[in-house]
Amino acid sequence: MTTSPKKNSLLCPNCRKLISRSASRCPYCDITNPSAWWKNTFLSSNRTKDEYYVRAIIYVNVAMFALLVLVDFRPSTFNFSPFAFLSPSNNALLIFGSTGSIPLFQLERWWSLISANYLHGSLLHILFNMLAFSQLAPFVQREFGNNRMIVIYTLGGVAGYLLSAIVGVKWTIGASAAVCSLIGALLYYGKSRGGRFGQAVFSQIGGWAIGIGIFGFLVPGINNWGHGGGMAAGALLGYLFGYREQRRESMALKYLAMACILTTILTLIWAVTSGFFLLLWRV
Ligand SMILES: [Zn+2]
Repeated sequence: MTTSPKKNSLLCPNCRKLISRSASRCPYCDITNPSAWWKNTFLSSNRTKDEYYVRAIIYVNVAMFALLVLVDFRPSTFNFSPFAFLSPSNNALLIFGSTGSIPLFQLERWWSLISANYLHGSLLHILFNMLAFSQLAPFVQREFGNNRMIVIYTLGGVAGYLLSAIVGVKWTIGASAAVCSLIGALLYYGKSRGGRFGQAVFSQIGGWAIGIGIFGFLVPGINNWGHGGGMAAGALLGYLFGYREQRRESMALKYLAMACILTTILTLIWAVTSGFFLLLWRV
């Protein structure tokens, strides 16, 4: 009987090449301690893990939405106009972390630049954003990798909201600034890669961008600065990080993705606990 080589070897969590489990450095990409469990858990990616991240982000959005609807339950929650059905009040949204020039510059709630990306104002609002996210995120994961997707999504949302607050948008919420940063990254990818596939990506994703633009000018209350800022930030980050055909995700980028995840989790925990504190204290 021969022993399976799998027991003594593993795929490097960084470069995915087969290496010895006892190696202190990967002979191919030179990262230290490639068999550390946490590196294999958090830094390596495959299709199943990628799907898990997309689903986790959707679940967090749904959980935050459900929490706000329940906490802020009142007769107008069941307003049967499509844009208002299951709508938390502006007050509840502010308490749990909506952003904009008032929360940022008057109340100095800087953390709301992250929390606002996970809050929605109605059932239609969250449905539309999560539908777009579930279509676009796997696309970005495939061409850029999961870590770059997470960093682009997180920083793009922050950048879009910061820009919109600077130009004077008072209140804003929703995943769409971050979703638009995925669109920006894919537009950059399509343009930069070129060829038949790049052009197809550019025109398909360009259709999304135009649709969002038209929607934004027809429907009042849409944060077009957040959308545009998110798109520009996503394109810029796509250019800075590069996509898979250009270069691998660096170790630094993987750590940056972990930092984005950790910051988001801590921010949402802060938003929920401080939100409940404010609610109870007010009563
Ligand atoms: Zn390696």
